Amino acid sequence: MTHDPTRRDLILAAALAAGGLSFAETALAQQGLPPTPKCKDGDEPTAAQTEGPFYKPSSPQRADLREPGLGGRAVVLTGLVLTRRCRPVARALVDLWHADDKGDYDNRGFRCRGHVLTDEAGRYQFRTIMPALYPGRTRHYHVKVASAGRSLLTTQLYFPNEPGNARDGLFQRALLMRVGQSGEGLAAQFSFVLDMT
Ligand code: FE
Repeated sequence: MTHDPTRRDLILAAALAAGGLSFAETALAQQGLPPTPKCKDGDEPTAAQTEGPFYKPSSPQRADLREPGLGGRAVVLTGLVLTRRCRPVARALVDLWHADDKGDYDNRGFRCRGHVLTDEAGRYQFRTIMPALYPGRTRHYHVKVASAGRSLLTTQLYFPNEPGNARDGLFQRALLMRVGQSGEGLAAQFSFVLDMT
């Protein structure tokens, strides 16, 4: 598949050249999957969505949410945090929470909850699972992104080719992750654009 290189592509290409990308992003690049939505000067910020009833502050800082007893298909979720001008946001806080392999949220502990900070190139990565479905919703992750102590985005990420997407009133195409196969499971990718320059 061919496409015009965007600044976001160039940032990813530079990261690839520097050898700093995870196997997930490398796998995606090798598969020639379509690019994430184009990033250009004055880009629209990533759409915000409701945080839902199960957000819990003070999640642990950890990139790996897998733990003994947690089933479900392995997912490596990677991407960038960018400004509207496509500048990488370093040390942005990316807070992820989602249902477990039974479709339940952990409201007592922090199962399937964690946050990471982006690196100097604005990259983040989580290792987790594909959440199970729960009644009333299509499959999704919940995310908050903050920079310099300021919460800038609360949204949800969706999986392509889910039958439930068309029936979910919250679903937005712009919030679809790019998902491909990787050796360990699924390689998912989504880059956030924050409302900052
Ligand atoms: Fe949810």
